Amino acid sequence: MKTYRVGGAVRDTLLGYPHQEIDWVVVGSTPEQMTAAGYTQVGRDFPVFLHPDTKEEYALARTERKSGPGYHGFTVHADPSVTLEEDLERRDLTINAMAMDGDGVVTDPYGGQADLDAKILRHVSTHFVEDPLRVLRVARFAARYHHLGFIVAEKTLRLMAEIVAAGELPHLSTERVWVETEKALSEKNPEIYCQVLFDCGALQALMPEVAASNGISALTRAAPHTPLAVCRWAALLADLPEARARRASERLKAPSDFTLLAARVAQLRPQLKAALKSGEDCMAVLKALDALRREEPFGGFCGTLAALEQNSADAVGAVSTLRAAREAAKTVKAADFTDQDVAGPALGAAIEAEQIKRVGEIIK
Ligand code: ATP
Ligand code: MG
Repeated sequence: MKTYRVGGAVRDTLLGYPHQEIDWVVVGSTPEQMTAAGYTQVGRDFPVFLHPDTKEEYALARTERKSGPGYHGFTVHADPSVTLEEDLERRDLTINAMAMDGDGVVTDPYGGQADLDAKILRHVSTHFVEDPLRVLRVARFAARYHHLGFIVAEKTLRLMAEIVAAGELPHLSTERVWVETEKALSEKNPEIYCQVLFDCGALQALMPEVAASNGISALTRAAPHTPLAVCRWAALLADLPEARARRASERLKAPSDFTLLAARVAQLRPQLKAALKSGEDCMAVLKALDALRREEPFGGFCGTLAALEQNSADAVGAVSTLRAAREAAKTVKAADFTDQDVAGPALGAAIEAEQIKRVGEIIK
């Protein structure tokens, strides 16, 4: 039995890029041997185990063949006779299909090092088309390594387009699509994820509203100015009418804070300039953001706004006015009205009138 580092750990080591986790492949072993050595099996469909101490993933070398439609239509074959080269062949990209042993010796049967040098994301074999998740993974790696000069190989992009045209994307669970999308939103160039998906037709299938909008250029502008996935998501959907932004977000089952922020940015950003001219309208914006009671989505709204305008003086000014208006409104307390003999709805109205007055003083 022999173990090798594989996948991202090898790729990023050779690239001199930081990586978090190490994936391992085990050749010449059986599930029984692994459990006897103290590993815990985690894969239901695949023979994957967790190391007793490090909790890193150790997968038995395996081959996979597509045997039916959808993500579960795979025949997995793992036994001690499966070689390292056979295991590497089932992987998505050549740069992800290298292994390294304990002495640092690299096994690279599919030209991964050459593609790292040439900065190309290239499929290992035409079996690439057997798993539609790879469309999203390749787009995500393109987003991550774009700043180093990496691009998707032409032939690989064609295979991605084939996967899309064959109607394979709907076989992916929404959860998997969102996991990839959220990871991509945190990469250095999240707009490249969307652009690559657009280039192979996947964006049109997964996020039709975005594909038909200027969302990608909005995200291109905003991304360097905010590292937050939630703000980047709102930037991508910012140019849509509120209902369409909400629909796009809900279709991907984005978390509720993502959908809420996207909807509020789409709804309130067009009115903001005018709202900052009147205490009443400004107060309405603060209330729509629930800003007097909660930090979010107010904070995300301000962050997205500034990022979309690339921290222009106007945008920074608008955000600081909004923040000052919020603080002014918060200074109004129900206790201030105890001597006025008002209660219930009348008290609410008195408080709001006072809030509008103080906000009005800030913005004039
Ligand atoms: P990251 O840095 O995001 O962890 P990674 O390449 O390590 O990148 P993982 O999802 O951890 O990605 O997968 C580890 C390895 O398993 C990959 O490098 C690749 O070789 C293989 N792999 C993972 N998912 C797929 C897939 N859907 N199709 C083919 N190979 C895959
Ligand atoms: Mg990994």
